[in-house]
Amino acid sequence: MTLDTLNEARPSVALVLEEQNVLAIRDIDMPTKPKAGEVKIAVDTVGVCGSDVHYYTHGRIGPFVVNDPMVLGHEAAGTITEVGEGVTGLKVGDRVCMEPGIPDMSSRASKLGMYNVDPAVAFWATPPIHGCLTPNVIHPAAFTYKLPDNVTFAEGAMVEPFAVGMQSATKAKIQPGDIALVLGAGPIGVMTALAALAGGCAEVFVSDIVAEKLTVAAQYDGITTIDVSKVSAVDVINAKTDSWGADIVFECTGAPAVFKTITDAVRPGGCIVFVGMPVDPVPLDLVSMQAKEIRMETVFRYANIYDRAINLIASGKVDLKPLVSATFDFADSIVAFDRAVEARPTDVKIQIKLPGTTV
Ligand code: ZN
Repeated sequence: MTLDTLNEARPSVALVLEEQNVLAIRDIDMPTKPKAGEVKIAVDTVGVCGSDVHYYTHGRIGPFVVNDPMVLGHEAAGTITEVGEGVTGLKVGDRVCMEPGIPDMSSRASKLGMYNVDPAVAFWATPPIHGCLTPNVIHPAAFTYKLPDNVTFAEGAMVEPFAVGMQSATKAKIQPGDIALVLGAGPIGVMTALAALAGGCAEVFVSDIVAEKLTVAAQYDGITTIDVSKVSAVDVINAKTDSWGADIVFECTGAPAVFKTITDAVRPGGCIVFVGMPVDPVPLDLVSMQAKEIRMETVFRYANIYDRAINLIASGKVDLKPLVSATFDFADSIVAFDRAVEARPTDVKIQIKLPGTTV
């Protein structure tokens, strides 16, 4: 058998999004052999992300349209079962998690260290790239990260969404003792709050209109929740800061109504980090931002964050385990997705368990 034959894609079972609203667990051609610089991973755990669910229910996210059947999933951890030529630092049996975006390493964006905004980035489960809800995946070793023994696969699969929170906290340039406000208590909101606390914030307020979501956030020391169906976040922040405002506001809702008053909660010279993605363009009151010389930052996924995210989880300073709401077997993947579509207010992260390996 020649090497080329070995490298050929072969049928493998996977969770396939056939088209909008149609999922199937069926065979689909997937690469089977790691090339130079790549590793093969037996996938153990995959988290269901809002983007996976959105492709399922809408068939598209902005310009990314599901035109052909696509394997879903991009938040994964597993065990290395094979290493390609030239791979150092990773070996068979290593427990790992994978960064799902693979940039063109010679691109200008990559050379600048901002490979997340490389226009050529190939990201799992973003059309036309297959995701990782399949028992085995091939991935570049450079984007595969060893998990310390005390970090579970479930936590490993949470590194991806947590990395968004970490990128947000990093972009905010937190100073020790900062007071932050996170708008939105969804998974990314809570993980941003945890990253902001780990990054030095003295207190992080998290606001939402759904009480159950706030209950999840409220279990963490350092987080104070604000039920904005009852009180205004600006009033709470003003009461806390003598009407000075929060040092940092993280926008994690993408809800258009929020953008009208977002500057009211920020102190002069403070920072707003835009993390949530509104479906349509939203108006922003630029003059109110100028009047406070507010710094604005935007976040698109993350770059050079995984190592730090894993360090924090391993240190015990950030505990993501309480955020896993339910775990389904791979055979029940479609049930898992339909549960995610329900968007139960008490659900934070739903995960899918694959066979994995005991190499
Ligand atoms: Zn995700």
